Amino acid sequence: MTVYITRFAPSPTGNLHIGSARTALINYVFKSQHPNSKLYLRIEDTDKERSTEEYKKNIISSLKWLGIEWENNLQIQSLNINRHLEVAKSLLENKKAYKCICSQDELAERRKKINSGEINTKKICITCENNNKVQSLEIGYVIRIKIPTTGKEILKDLIQGQVEVNNYEIDDFVLVRKDNTPTYMLSVVVDDHDLGVNFIIRGDDHLNNYFRQKFIYQYMKWEIPEYAHIPLIHGEDGSKLSKRHGAVNLIDLKNEGYLPSAIINNLILLGWSPKKQNDEIIELANIISKFEIKTLSKSASIFSYKKLDYFNNHYLRLKTNIKIFEEYCRSNSALEKLLNIDKEKLFKVFNVYKKDISKYIELLDIVEIYFSNNFLKKIDKNFEQDFNYIYEDFLKLIKNINNWEYENINLEIKEFIKKNNIKFPVLGKPVRYLLTNDYNGPSITDIFMILGKTKTLERLKRYNI
Ligand code: GLU
Repeated sequence: MTVYITRFAPSPTGNLHIGSARTALINYVFKSQHPNSKLYLRIEDTDKERSTEEYKKNIISSLKWLGIEWENNLQIQSLNINRHLEVAKSLLENKKAYKCICSQDELAERRKKINSGEINTKKICITCENNNKVQSLEIGYVIRIKIPTTGKEILKDLIQGQVEVNNYEIDDFVLVRKDNTPTYMLSVVVDDHDLGVNFIIRGDDHLNNYFRQKFIYQYMKWEIPEYAHIPLIHGEDGSKLSKRHGAVNLIDLKNEGYLPSAIINNLILLGWSPKKQNDEIIELANIISKFEIKTLSKSASIFSYKKLDYFNNHYLRLKTNIKIFEEYCRSNSALEKLLNIDKEKLFKVFNVYKKDISKYIELLDIVEIYFSNNFLKKIDKNFEQDFNYIYEDFLKLIKNINNWEYENINLEIKEFIKKNNIKFPVLGKPVRYLLTNDYNGPSITDIFMILGKTKTLERLKRYNI
């Protein structure tokens, strides 16, 4: 079996986006499917103006939170700049690149002609390459790669299929800027080659870059990796997934109380599905055994928050994930406070309501009901006569329950209803209102169990007939 060397290469110019998380996930799944294969994480921080340490940390912690693992030696692109420049120099020496001193105005003028079709190649500079004076300069130039103006390039992409581009459509792109810093286009190829990367999975916004980057491989006589350009994620309205649609960064999803397993489940089903439909709930280990990268759809995938909520509700209900709930509470100052006041009660609330919530943050309003003292206020409203008749007896019944267990309370209530010959809602609705200020919600026995006997009685007594 082929040993694959893969990499995930984010630029630390923002927090980890859900689309990038998907690229990382697919890289991780792919490498995990192939024994002895490797996944490197490379922080592409050569754009010094937009890259920050904070974003770098966010990317790393978001990936860790998601459960993605990579080789120990984290790659930092900016540490390899000298090596990138060395390759540029070698391209210059071999006449595969040239120095260019065209001014911005000259380039703009030429670009205008290219765009209007007056010139039918993308060759932006036609003067410098053959100007010996320019080529012997020591400083003050950019280095451009030399792309042939005839012929065409073919990429056999694992997902996009065969893609062809004519060489005249490719520009002599810059390898090294005037300030002697390498561009992304150069650094990415040098680093991938030096790491031994032989399989590149990345967003299809980089598809066009393949046709540029391949020349660096070719000119350096390096082996060109295989490619899988995965489609971008769109929102349900068809536009690129952005904040308008909801939380798009992993850190925001985490703060709202989404679980990594739900995010992974949702992401992997974008453009791919397991053979059996009822395998829709699929966890990482199972994904690794079933996922097939070559069956991934090449059209843009629609990200649905409704679907994510559905998966999240599934995973947050699992008993095995209760630890994740506790961790979440510790990361949220309001819930952490309550955790310290009464952990047992908080967990009871969670267990009663978990079937109805799609993310942990929704609990914030709910816990308020059970921890707030507002409920000591009297209630100045009248319930129906049928309830008023039985109210005092019901209070007595509750007062006399000593075995405060779910089954027992349920039984006592059932018998009370039978004895008084009333329908359950006659009792249930007003009682629920007294306990939670809402006629609808969980069963009153569940509410009794959360509140405990003393608080239950306190709240029930708010009513004056
Ligand atoms: N650093 C690039 C980005 O964040 C990715 C480069 C690549 O995967 O080739 O878009």
